Amino acid sequence: MTEVVLTETFAAARARLAAALAAAGRDPQDAALLAVSKTKPALMIREAHGLGQRQFGENYLQEAIDKQAELADLDDIVWHFIGPLQSNKTRQVAEHFDWVHSVDREKIARRLAEQRPADRAPLNVCLQVNISDEASKAGVALADLDALAETVMSLPGLRLRGLMAIPAPSADPAEQRLPFKRLREALEALKARFPEAALDTLSMGMSDDLEAAIAEGATLVRIGTALFGARPRPTT
Ligand SMILES: *Cc1c(COP(=O)(O)O)cnc(C)c1O
Repeated sequence: MTEVVLTETFAAARARLAAALAAAGRDPQDAALLAVSKTKPALMIREAHGLGQRQFGENYLQEAIDKQAELADLDDIVWHFIGPLQSNKTRQVAEHFDWVHSVDREKIARRLAEQRPADRAPLNVCLQVNISDEASKAGVALADLDALAETVMSLPGLRLRGLMAIPAPSADPAEQRLPFKRLREALEALKARFPEAALDTLSMGMSDDLEAAIAEGATLVRIGTALFGARPRPTT
């Protein structure tokens, strides 16, 4: 693997985000980079923090908690859990993260609410939507989204912020936009239905489809490879 120079990759990703926002006629502050640091060492996160990055996304709980301990002196990091979430892992998410993007069923939401420490701010929640409608992918079906959103909004300790999706990959920019458009429309429908909720987040777009996601209204793009370099093949 070629060596990754974070000053260069962060400058390039920020320029890509700025260009995509400008092309979409959106304000430069309208969307932010969530740096996906899974499988990458704490030292890289520390270096990225030195470059001004504050929001980091992790997928693997034990790895994330170990890195958080190493980085405890950087107390302004905002930690996002973006990986698949089983119910035996909810306590660790509730105790160690500021955000979770992968809530897709009521049982998980109820456990997170019960387990969120009372002295912490509410856990920010994005509901993961199965937007490409593939049997293999996680996420709540669009038909069940309203009910899940209503449950999450009723639970103390949780704050519903928006929606997340991981569409089926496509190399065609026009095709990439379709699922992102569906997710944006789903958020708009939720906002209309629940106008009092703080629904300000569309978590969509990764290294290969950032532009398509920004064109459809993403507010948080989850970027790993383009910032930190390629990852070894996942083991879980
Ligand atoms: C790994 C991961 C990313 C980052 O993907 P890249 O293609 O490396 O940018 C984004 N979102 C989720 C949910 C991930 O698991």
